[in-house]
Amino acid sequence: MEKIKMTTPLVEMDGDEMTRILWKMIKEELLLPFIDLKTEYYDLGLEHRNETDDQVTFDSAEATKKYGVAVKCATITPNAARMTEYHLKQMWKSPNGTIRAILDGTVFRAPIVVKGIEPCVRNWKKPITIARHAYGDVYKGSEVKIPGAGKAEIVFTGEDGTQIRELIHDFKEPGIVQGMHNLNGSIESFAKSCFNYALDTKQDLWFATKDTISKKYDHTFKDIFQEIFEKEYKEKFDAAGIEYFYTLIDDAVARVMKSEGGYIWACKNYDGDVMSDMVSSAFGSLAMMTSVLVSPQGYYEYEAAHGTVQRHYYKHLKGEETSTNSVATIFAWTGALRKRGELDNLPELSSFADKLEQACIQTIESGKMTKDLALITTLENPTPLSSEGFIKAIREKLEEMV
Ligand code: NAP
Ligand code: MG
Repeated sequence: MEKIKMTTPLVEMDGDEMTRILWKMIKEELLLPFIDLKTEYYDLGLEHRNETDDQVTFDSAEATKKYGVAVKCATITPNAARMTEYHLKQMWKSPNGTIRAILDGTVFRAPIVVKGIEPCVRNWKKPITIARHAYGDVYKGSEVKIPGAGKAEIVFTGEDGTQIRELIHDFKEPGIVQGMHNLNGSIESFAKSCFNYALDTKQDLWFATKDTISKKYDHTFKDIFQEIFEKEYKEKFDAAGIEYFYTLIDDAVARVMKSEGGYIWACKNYDGDVMSDMVSSAFGSLAMMTSVLVSPQGYYEYEAAHGTVQRHYYKHLKGEETSTNSVATIFAWTGALRKRGELDNLPELSSFADKLEQACIQTIESGKMTKDLALITTLENPTPLSSEGFIKAIREKLEEMV
């Protein structure tokens, strides 16, 4: 069989622990036998980040701007324990944070829906994609504990010295205050990424905030979305037969619960943080969530939503058998390969990505799955497989299909 050709390389960002082990198996079993795989390789494993003073993370993000599409393995975000474990020179920042800041992107997370892993919400039939704004608000806030009586104010001093003042509260007793901000430019990028992704995936886009209470802050988000939509996207949405609508967050929550799924729900930073955890656990499993970072310029970085599965890695190091679910990592590869196929006009590559996804889904639906899924499936008598056994089972299905 002739291997499928690629013309432009994918930016390949390798990672850490159990997902690094899965990464290698996925390439050897599911990609290299079928594709003449072209990648530009960046090792974002913590050891190599430490050796390069994290330069490799920056380089991989720049390469993503050059080539347009990246695929990333989960990576360790160092904490105090990792400082000793890996003898780090510094507590390097989260690679995802660094890459997100360079690409100015929005993260879209969607569950992989299979028969036998049923959502807790019975009427959800199709995936719900959460788009989370990844800049500002409470994540870049300043907070003060107010010790006693006194006035708290917001003061803005312009470069020319003119001031804007606003009373927060005239305190008569101890309390707390919080100040936070966002930038019109960042909100515009968020809006554009959302509109582009909706067009890309042909799904409706919902956006919700609390603008009735937050008449300037949240209202600005609503206005920027509306303005960009009318100016740049309305006609394209009409042509694609999809819809954009804004609603109050309370209303959105109620509608989501009653919906069938199959749309993108855009959320402000905090709402997205919380709602994506709710939606992913209600769909069944963190190991079945995909994640893609989309920049307003149209650069894409695909990954799994879960981490490096540290606990399984330590078992693996002890020589014990693991049963780690590789589906979300495989879907990171298929997402990237499909996008590369679209951009380079290589329909065979995109169609291979579709088949590999189908092979994963059919393997699970036939009862062969990793332990995390075997524990929650509604299928009778599932066969739990090891990390490697599961990938081999997918390989068999894939060979039947190509
Ligand atoms: P995690 O790797 O997502 O794993 C948490 C738990 O969820 C696992 O112990 C496992 O439960 C279950 N799980 C997650 N993915 C699974 C899979 N594919 N198959 C089977 N079970 C799975 O989160 P963590 O243990 O909190 O974090 C580990 C490291 O990952 C940290 O260093 C963190 O910095 C990093 N991290 C990276 C990213 C990223 O790169 N995007 C995201 C999050 C975390 P059981 O142990 O019960 O089997
Ligand atoms: Mg969270």
